[in-house]
Amino acid sequence: MAGLPYIVGNWKMNGTRAMLNEARAIDRAAARFPKVQVAVAPPSTLIYRTRDAADIIGVGGQDCHAQESGAFTGDISAVMLKDAGADFTIVGHSERRTLHGETDADVKAKAEAALAAGLGVILCVGETESERDAGRAEAVVGAQLEGSCPQTDGAPEKLSVAYEPVWAIGTGRVPSVEDVAAMHKSIRDKLVAIYGEGGAEVRILYGGSVKADNANELLAVPEVGGALVGGASLTAESFLAIVGAAA
Ligand code: PEP
Repeated sequence: MAGLPYIVGNWKMNGTRAMLNEARAIDRAAARFPKVQVAVAPPSTLIYRTRDAADIIGVGGQDCHAQESGAFTGDISAVMLKDAGADFTIVGHSERRTLHGETDADVKAKAEAALAAGLGVILCVGETESERDAGRAEAVVGAQLEGSCPQTDGAPEKLSVAYEPVWAIGTGRVPSVEDVAAMHKSIRDKLVAIYGEGGAEVRILYGGSVKADNANELLAVPEVGGALVGGASLTAESFLAIVGAAA
């Protein structure tokens, strides 16, 4: 797996202009961690201003529509994200899959639109607690990858996959390092099955209750190439503690 550890903050529906101070602080501090790739995904309303306020860190969207433009009230296209200064977008977050009914096919179309617009993609996958309890976690995640990995030319180079067990998001619970290792290996195998050699280069992030006190351990797991961080990315202090653990 190539590249620097990638630590991405997903601000979700949090943040007004005051939050730009956190972005500035993260950006300033990122200069001290040249061996870590740092990015934040603010709400869409702050993408342009975050890009303006920050020189070093990546800035991304949290979702995009699969179409470039049209009669889709309230939606934002990948082209618009790019135009606002985004470098990448998250697609397929479990909150989108659950609260907005997004299917694997929807997620794949969004990922392909994002790549076509010149954005990187962080594609989220993860099992629910009942799926894990039933021993189906790897099968569920494998099926999500089969259904939602983009198939456009050059896809693996601009793709990261975030493994986010749904039951670990925002709960303070994390899987054991053994379970993370097993799932990341299974994701790697599936990516190689999907993309061939290119699948070996896709960065696989872990997400779900990553905090300063567990980041070290999680980031040391084989095939964990970074972290997608929700709650702990909302202040520069807590986010930078995780960035520091990756350095
Ligand atoms: C997320 O929602 O992507 C996430 C990982 O959230 P948290 O870190 O708060 O669990």
